[in-house]
Amino acid sequence: MSKQRINIVWLKRDLRTQDHLPFFYAELAAVDYIPIFVFEPSMMNRMDCSKRHLQFIYHSILEMNVTLQEMKREVIIFHAEATEVFSYLTKNYDIDTVYSYQESGVRATWERDKEVTKLLNENGSKWQQFQRDGIVRGIKNRDAWDKQWYAHAYEPIIENNFSPQRFDFSNPFPLHEELKSEFSKYPDVFQKPGELLAWKYLTSFCEERGKDYSFKISKPLESRRSCSRISPYLAWGNISIKQAYQFVKHHPNFVNHKRSFNGFLTRLKWHCHFIQKFEVECDYETRSVNRGYESMPYINDPEMIEAWKNGTTGLPLVDACMRCLKQTGWINFRMRAMLVSVLTHHFDCDWKAGVTHLAQLFLDYEPGIHYTQFQMQAGTTGINTIRIYNPIKQSKDHDPDGIFIKKWVDELRNVPSAFIHEPWIMTEIDKSFIDLKTDYPPPIIDITQSGKTAREKLWGFRKNKEVKTDGMRIVQTHTRNNRSKRTI
Ligand SMILES: Cc1cc2nc3c(=O)[nH]c(=O)nc-3n(C[C@H](O)[C@H](O)[C@H](O)COP(=O)(O)OP(=O)(O)OC[C@H]3O[C@@H](n4cnc5c(N)ncnc54)[C@H](O)[C@@H]3O)c2cc1C
Repeated sequence: MSKQRINIVWLKRDLRTQDHLPFFYAELAAVDYIPIFVFEPSMMNRMDCSKRHLQFIYHSILEMNVTLQEMKREVIIFHAEATEVFSYLTKNYDIDTVYSYQESGVRATWERDKEVTKLLNENGSKWQQFQRDGIVRGIKNRDAWDKQWYAHAYEPIIENNFSPQRFDFSNPFPLHEELKSEFSKYPDVFQKPGELLAWKYLTSFCEERGKDYSFKISKPLESRRSCSRISPYLAWGNISIKQAYQFVKHHPNFVNHKRSFNGFLTRLKWHCHFIQKFEVECDYETRSVNRGYESMPYINDPEMIEAWKNGTTGLPLVDACMRCLKQTGWINFRMRAMLVSVLTHHFDCDWKAGVTHLAQLFLDYEPGIHYTQFQMQAGTTGINTIRIYNPIKQSKDHDPDGIFIKKWVDELRNVPSAFIHEPWIMTEIDKSFIDLKTDYPPPIIDITQSGKTAREKLWGFRKNKEVKTDGMRIVQTHTRNNRSKRTI
């Protein structure tokens, strides 16, 4: 019996039903298709993956299926390695074309894609991969990138329509019940996944929340409301960059909040700028952006790393940020940068000691942004200004009354604002006036001293010959050639 001829839409970080090129082309084709998502055990077991990511993905798909159900379609969820899935599909079906977006992921996904390509080629099947969010594959420098990116941002939004599926498909690799039930329990404290919620966040940002975006962006408490909070939706593709860009650019409130909205639009470009770096050099996952920093010595004290991870450093803002992140999956940019700075500069630990910890906690984990941003803050690019954040100063500047700190570090609930940034300076008499819990640790280091040591070490290492040479290569590859106009 001849095999059923089919096409496939392979969903990755594009979990939406609109502005979707693979769906668009699959619907145009004469051959019918199935949309699939593959939960790959090897990816699920990686150190940068966590249950919250898998739950976000799972619920995004469930929501897509509610929409698609009306059109008698369904995203089929596989639980197996992608190579196993495609071996099965090529054996049992005559696959004409696989449609997907290009994945600018870690090396493991790149290698997996090479194996899938081989499998498909051997079976005479095509794989059409589309550019995602204006990120370009195979470029050698950034000379034309900005112009191309803006051209992409203004391209018309794709309106997707769906026809009913014309053949039955039985899933040989379903998610087993245990995993299904684990994925189903989505914690209330996290942002809810899916296209609908993505639009809800973006709309409320434009209508109300975003008016003070620029002023509150660095405040750990206020930014929770004034920032767009669309990062998890962009990271998992519940909304495309183009959709977000055009919606904000054309929103009636744009003229009223130009500074804030332009700041937001610039960041959408940064989003792609960082992923573009990773697309070109995904080894940033495992090695320093600037190879010269691979030989930088660190103390890497395991106790300090654990205290940082657990939010028990004795530095109130650092602990509040880490505990908040654990609970909610989000903190603002400035606090992310501060956490990295404390680990890598003040605690003198290798960026590799903390990078997957934060990846697991961020609901919006996007490898292209995460590894490059983490290293930028750790000072291992060799081309960016080195910023050593003092967590006490950050605390005084951005949480002056300690409201954010007290919300997340219960031990400090009764500490007066005057001492909340440095509770260790309280005298016994000060303490006797308040009902102070005693189980909050003293600071694990002297921040003034550690900042000074880090500054000397980092600026000293910048003079290293290998750092300088690789810095030149990085500028050539990842920035516009005109140095005066250099992007970050
Ligand atoms: C160490 C570190 C790790 C980070 N890891 C991630 C990550 O894994 N995923 C992620 O989406 N962002 C990451 N960021 C960038 C930034 O902190 C988040 O994008 C932002 O806080 C998300 O909140 P928002 O959606 O309200 O952002 P907004 O300020 O409302 O910005 C809108 C969008 O622009 C993009 N964006 C904003 N700031 C940046 C930036 N500095 N660099 C690149 N893109 C930006 C995001 O997609 C964001 O959703 C990281 C930053 C640091 C310092």
